[in-house]
Amino acid sequence: MSIQKSWSELQTMARAARIVMSTLDALEAAAVPGATTGDLDRIARESIEKAGARPAFLNYRGFPATLCASVNEEVVHGIPGPRELREGDIVGLDLGCVLDGFFGDSARTVAVGKISAEAEELLRTTREALQAGVEMCRPGRRVGDIGHAVQAHAEARGYSVVREFVGHGIGTNLHEEPQVPNYGPPGRRERLVPGMCLAIEPMVNAGGPEVEVLADGWTAVTRDRRLSAHFEFAVAVTEHGPWILSEPYPYAALGAEAANA
Ligand code: MG
Ligand code: MG
Repeated sequence: MSIQKSWSELQTMARAARIVMSTLDALEAAAVPGATTGDLDRIARESIEKAGARPAFLNYRGFPATLCASVNEEVVHGIPGPRELREGDIVGLDLGCVLDGFFGDSARTVAVGKISAEAEELLRTTREALQAGVEMCRPGRRVGDIGHAVQAHAEARGYSVVREFVGHGIGTNLHEEPQVPNYGPPGRRERLVPGMCLAIEPMVNAGGPEVEVLADGWTAVTRDRRLSAHFEFAVAVTEHGPWILSEPYPYAALGAEAANA
């Protein structure tokens, strides 16, 4: 069971989430033809440190960078380096930070220059699948409702969802219980309660759902080498509904979690 956060803890979570989001904004602007994924990693580290936070992925289980940069058929966990981005590529940018002991974790897949209509459609559908999952983050729902909503949205449009990697609880650790799969039946798994924070992160493939990890031990690619997209938000379950932590608190009244601040 994910630990329920108090109101003041949620405020810190939100600050961490906003640092990740503003860093992703800077990276999206910098992801132009000719830029290398290593350039993006340096920008990410500078942005996080300038904001007074620490990179969460650097040295996490030995990962060697601040940013996961996953190009085209790469699903997640791409290692930044000398690879130059080219017009028409899509690049998944996945980033975490820790601020005052609380973690932020978010991802988006962005276009490098002009991309194909097929790639645009994959990005749009993955973003929508994430939003469908976020909508389930309400008291009384269950973790399985999130994955079911993500899977239903993606598969209705002819895509597949990755099984090997899942979303997760988030808080004073980058990865906490519960696991949040992007597939499966509704009405199952843990019950959602106010104060839970979940990182929801659909990975949607243009072709089949199978993935494999390359010889570097990190980079996951689609087995059929077709495109993959990844979007992620950290979301708090509140009495009123979901709060995407990088956005302003969206409800007029404070939820019950504010009472035990
Ligand atoms: Mg992430
Ligand atoms: Mg995550």
